[in-house]
Amino acid sequence: MKIDGACSCGAIRIEGEADPEKTQICHCTDCQTGTGSAFRVSIPVSGATFRMTGQPALFLKTTAESGNPRLQAFCGTCGSPIYSTTPGEGQQASYMVRVGILRQRDQFVPRRQNWFRSARSWVLNLDAVPKNEKQALA
Ligand SMILES: [Zn+2]
Ligand SMILES: [Zn+2]
Repeated sequence: MKIDGACSCGAIRIEGEADPEKTQICHCTDCQTGTGSAFRVSIPVSGATFRMTGQPALFLKTTAESGNPRLQAFCGTCGSPIYSTTPGEGQQASYMVRVGILRQRDQFVPRRQNWFRSARSWVLNLDAVPKNEKQALA
């Protein structure tokens, strides 16, 4: 299906095509640090369909486990994570786009959880945590 999205400030916009069945969570510690959160949710988008306006800031992260470098793209103004891909010139074969920036995010439900060995112990128990429909009143 067609997807499109933008960072928080709108400086970077992306579009492409993605299969919701391929939505995945990554619980690795690099993703925890890179998001400042418990896990990352991403969807692969083929380079043939991936389009972007705006110029992201880039950070080359070598993953501790595999030793493979991954290029992490985020907005240099607002800091929103945009995608990761293989380092190299020009269009790459595939982009792992961050589901949270997509306008169609409701339709991308995770189908797989990777690096579960480093998942935070509470991620499977969120249903038991008291909920507020909006911001808590202190
Ligand atoms: Zn931005
Ligand atoms: Zn990860």
